[in-house]
Amino acid sequence: MNQPLKITNHLPTAELQALDAAHHFHPFTDKAGLAAKGARVITRGEGVWLTDSEGNRIIDGMAGLWCVNIGYGRKEMGQAAARQMDELAYYNTFFQTTHVPAIALAAKIAELAPGDLNHVFFAGSGSEANDTNIRLVRRYWQVKGQPERTTIIARWNGYHGSTMGGGSLGGMKPIHAHGGKIEGIEHIDQPYWWGEGGDMTEADFGLARARQLEEKILELGADKVAAFIGEPIQGAGGVIVPPSTYWPETQRICDKYGILLIADEVITGFGRTGNWFGSETFGIKPHIMTIAKGLSSGYQPIGGSIVCDEVAEVVGSGGEFFHGYTYSGHPVAAAVALENLRIMQEENIIDHVRNVAHPYLKERWDALVDHPLVGEAKLVGLMGSIALTPDKAKRAAFASETGTVGLRCRERCFANNLIMRHVGDRMIIAPPLVITPEEIDILIDRAKKSLDECYEGLVADGLFVAKAD
Ligand SMILES: *Cc1c(COP(=O)(O)O)cnc(C)c1O
Repeated sequence: MNQPLKITNHLPTAELQALDAAHHFHPFTDKAGLAAKGARVITRGEGVWLTDSEGNRIIDGMAGLWCVNIGYGRKEMGQAAARQMDELAYYNTFFQTTHVPAIALAAKIAELAPGDLNHVFFAGSGSEANDTNIRLVRRYWQVKGQPERTTIIARWNGYHGSTMGGGSLGGMKPIHAHGGKIEGIEHIDQPYWWGEGGDMTEADFGLARARQLEEKILELGADKVAAFIGEPIQGAGGVIVPPSTYWPETQRICDKYGILLIADEVITGFGRTGNWFGSETFGIKPHIMTIAKGLSSGYQPIGGSIVCDEVAEVVGSGGEFFHGYTYSGHPVAAAVALENLRIMQEENIIDHVRNVAHPYLKERWDALVDHPLVGEAKLVGLMGSIALTPDKAKRAAFASETGTVGLRCRERCFANNLIMRHVGDRMIIAPPLVITPEEIDILIDRAKKSLDECYEGLVADGLFVAKAD
């Protein structure tokens, strides 16, 4: 009889690492560095906890890649997938066909999304959804008789995925450097006060950065601009929480020039900021929202664009929209996403974020600024960051190359069985939304221990030094 492959009954770690290095081409990884060190092999997940192939229990402060909002190991999710595979494993949604999971999920998302964001175009990921958005906004203006409006304005250090379209919308120069970027995308500066605010107040800086949008529109000509895209809070850029003045001014400018506003909610959607969507947290009224990640809590790959009535009607009035993915609205992914949203709602997970997890984590996270290495702490809902600095008063950067200190800190976290990422010299967290106060205590204790060890190492190695002005 055929035995099912038991993945948990695995080869010794060193053998797995050797096979991995030989055959697995990893995303966002330095191959030589990985081969030298060996990848950490994750074998199990339960709640906020991961187990590796050596049996270590790791607390996942990043919810995988910001996505496992309901936590690992929920049996109902696998059962939903199995039921759907038995019923209808695959059918497409092209050419005037549909199926029940896609219908039900689109209706559910329309119910949860604010305002008249009532139409969902499905994709397999956040990157794909942003590629859809490029085509969608350009098509919108074509049908409206303004085909010159093709340029999309985005921000430096924004992240919108790593397909050619998503990577071009993103403002990450290392990504542009590998293969270039597509035409018709312009970048303005990010609202990163700690790093770039100089002597300005946060409020003034927020306004100044928002007004770069207006300057860019005037420079290009409003009749050339299709849309502006931004993450309510930049995630991969380092959990950059914009000053409170930023989004209202950005909204005003988009409204004034009739520019479509795309909120990339791939991280901020589905409870991460303490509301269903980050746009609600910041009072943004987008025409299109990009979603993925928390939509299925990462149990299945699925993303999409939630589109307002007007944009859907205009694009819909133009005949066939020549765009789609084989797996747009994949029935198994849709069924799993529906189950995820059912769990989110029935277990009041957003209330847990607002009333329990956020207030408790906020108290403990903010207290990290007492540490000699930590300059500021930011937390919205359950996404947070701390700035590492050798001189808090001056908001100074380190003399070492950006990211050197952050990487050293992350290595200490890994060694202490805490997953916390670094972006440059900022440390970031986005734990599963179901994290309990007891688990928050463990997370913070491990973070402090890691910061202590990092700090001692920096002092010992003469690296606790500010960059000269
Ligand atoms: C992760 C992310 C994406 C890309 O999503 P993928 O599913 O990795 O393609 C897009 N936008 C934002 C804001 C993200 O965080």
